[in-house]
Amino acid sequence: MESNTKTDPYNNPEFKSTLLLLGFIVLGVVMGGVCGWFWGETMVKVEWLGKLFLNALKMTIVPLIVSAVISGVASMGNTAKARKLGGATLLYYISTTAVAVLLGLLVVNVIQPGAGLNFEGGEVIEKVASKKDTGASDIILSLVSPNLIHSAAQGQLLPIIFFSILLAIAINMLGEEGKALKQFFDSLNHAMMRIVTWIMYFAPIGIFGLIASRLGKAGGGDAFFMELKAVGWHVVTVISGLGLHFIFLSLILYLITRRGLAYYLGMFRALLTAFGTASSSATLPVTMECAKESGVSEKSVRFVLPLGSTVNMDGTALYEAAAVMFIAQAYGIDMGVGQQTIIFITATLAAIGAAGIPEAGLVTMVIVLQAVGLPLEGISLLLSVDWFLDRMRTSLNVWGDSVGAAVIDKFVPDKEP
Ligand code: ASP
Repeated sequence: MESNTKTDPYNNPEFKSTLLLLGFIVLGVVMGGVCGWFWGETMVKVEWLGKLFLNALKMTIVPLIVSAVISGVASMGNTAKARKLGGATLLYYISTTAVAVLLGLLVVNVIQPGAGLNFEGGEVIEKVASKKDTGASDIILSLVSPNLIHSAAQGQLLPIIFFSILLAIAINMLGEEGKALKQFFDSLNHAMMRIVTWIMYFAPIGIFGLIASRLGKAGGGDAFFMELKAVGWHVVTVISGLGLHFIFLSLILYLITRRGLAYYLGMFRALLTAFGTASSSATLPVTMECAKESGVSEKSVRFVLPLGSTVNMDGTALYEAAAVMFIAQAYGIDMGVGQQTIIFITATLAAIGAAGIPEAGLVTMVIVLQAVGLPLEGISLLLSVDWFLDRMRTSLNVWGDSVGAAVIDKFVPDKEP
């Protein structure tokens, strides 16, 4: 199992068997799409298969994140180098998120998807209404939880990560006395990763269930196509932006790490799981497994990926900027450079604050809309296709984390844990 940091990770039997698994997952995605498209609502019957897969992944998240972050941070030590690395990781994530927002603004200004829609009215959707008073300070507040068990039960991972980092630093400071705890979390992490590999065997069927039933819920292929058409330019804008950012990240990956197609192939299972689940948190166990198999060191996998899956959301950031501008255009409200600068800043923050769960981006978009004084009702324009764009942006979120892990790994000293 621990053969993941081999010199040539792509040329071993383990990698070949995961390629086979990848083949089955691709088949699951395609079959899910085809069945959902043609059989529409009937496919809601297979929803439980998707739920079973999703629940199994979610089951691992809290113990996995806690053990990964603690053993990852503790193994780096309390050295100045380790602190620098932590700072560099955050800086890297924030910078790539900012580039994503810029690309979102660029495509939406060029394509102008909302121009001429003359939209009026709309309804404030329930999910959004409860977030009306959310501000940027709430993002900082959400770091520290008064009750970790409650946060874990609610799936709020940021405070769990924050606490794990603190605990790891404390363990390191204890020296000899902290060793037993460190060993405990190391070994818990290995055991959790083993469970994840078992769950992955169920991924083809689980992802099939998720996609077929979601398309079925949307009323099958024809209904989905009509929905897409109604806000077609918005969909084109978002997908073009995501595509551009994907290329940008791949360039960074190649320039800094010299990794290319093989890394992409290695991470592809995670990207498909992200597409199936629309949740970067639920995908995290798979992302970690794929990154390890692709030769990223355990240290980086354990520290960089859990952090990335909660704070680094390039797809979400890009989407929020593009969607808010789309709403402004649809209402016929002109956004100048000043307003777009506010969008730039708040969309970056809102994406950092968004949880890695389905449609979280749609909800944190409230922060951006309110900052520039746009009506929250505008979100109703985007609802019909959000489930689909959510999957696209989640895949990019996961790609962003994966590239981050490979890039940061380049700078990690003495990689053996
Ligand atoms: N679903 C996204 C994720 O989990 C967040 C969002 O953009 O809604 O990464």
